[in-house]
Amino acid sequence: MIVALAGGVGAARFLRGLVRVAPPEEITVIVNTADDDIFHGLSVSPDLDTVTYTLAGAEHPEQGWGLEGESFRTIGALSRFGVSPWFRLGDLDIATHLFRTERLRDGATLSEVTREITASWGITTLLIPMTDDAVGTRLTVEREDAKTEVLRMQEWFVKERTAPTVRNVEFDGAQNSVPAPGVLDAISEAETIIICPSNPVISIGPILAIPGIREALVARRSRVVGVSPIIAGETVKGPADRLMQSLGIEVSCVGVAKTYAEYCSTLIIDERDASRCDDVEAHGVRAVVAQTLMSDPDVAASLARSVLEAME
Ligand code: GDP
Ligand code: CA
Repeated sequence: MIVALAGGVGAARFLRGLVRVAPPEEITVIVNTADDDIFHGLSVSPDLDTVTYTLAGAEHPEQGWGLEGESFRTIGALSRFGVSPWFRLGDLDIATHLFRTERLRDGATLSEVTREITASWGITTLLIPMTDDAVGTRLTVEREDAKTEVLRMQEWFVKERTAPTVRNVEFDGAQNSVPAPGVLDAISEAETIIICPSNPVISIGPILAIPGIREALVARRSRVVGVSPIIAGETVKGPADRLMQSLGIEVSCVGVAKTYAEYCSTLIIDERDASRCDDVEAHGVRAVVAQTLMSDPDVAASLARSVLEAME
């Protein structure tokens, strides 16, 4: 069995390749839920949905969220009431959130609802939320006038377009949460555990903050392999560079290696970072060079093959 730790779009692109080179039903994906929030009364799980829609081949090709061919009539119609939402939800996407919200209200767990949603898309890979408890990323930001404020993830990322400088990142509720059923068993039984090319701070960070998960990974360190989401000192997409910088982490594959070193034995770094192998290995993490920019699903599949071969 293969286990993957996943955020949203970077992970989804990688997993789309992984399911081509390994049996999809032998893969378990543990997904970040610290971006989850409630919008217009609906329970939205951005990373679970991005991975689900991508594995279903139904994702929006450019946006990095939502469904292909989506319309926005429902959210647009809120203007009648003087409401202009900064967090946009597509009409078909809303059906997912309606279903999730209703099932949660009826007492189902997020794990159960996730299984129902993935089954409806014909996905045979097991997606497990990191926890069934409510955990939320909170960013302490500093504004231009030097005033600080605590923002929820989507407030900082979507509403404020990452403009305010981040001073601190916390995962509200993590301390009192427990891993979702199956998470720890999957980690202890997996042949290979892959840390997807996801944001180390706000996608992988929250998963590690769930009590028990870090320890479970440390115990399996020799079987844990990461893929650097940073190529040549830059993110491919998203705010990982700025978040790493604000937390004092070097924005490079070396910074990623240092962050993961305690529980990760091998890091896949990009060809363009080949000169940094020794710096990665100085942190006790074996470096393996591959083409990691997933410009299309074929490249993602060959990257996934490189990851599995590195752990043979
Ligand atoms: P989010 O929750 O939607 O932000 O998604 P993730 O946390 O899973 O992914 C964001 C990270 O994926 C960013 O740091 C990107 O640099 C990284 N990423 C996106 N596409 C690629 C790619 O093709 N190759 C690599 N190595 N990283 C990528
Ligand atoms: Ca996310």
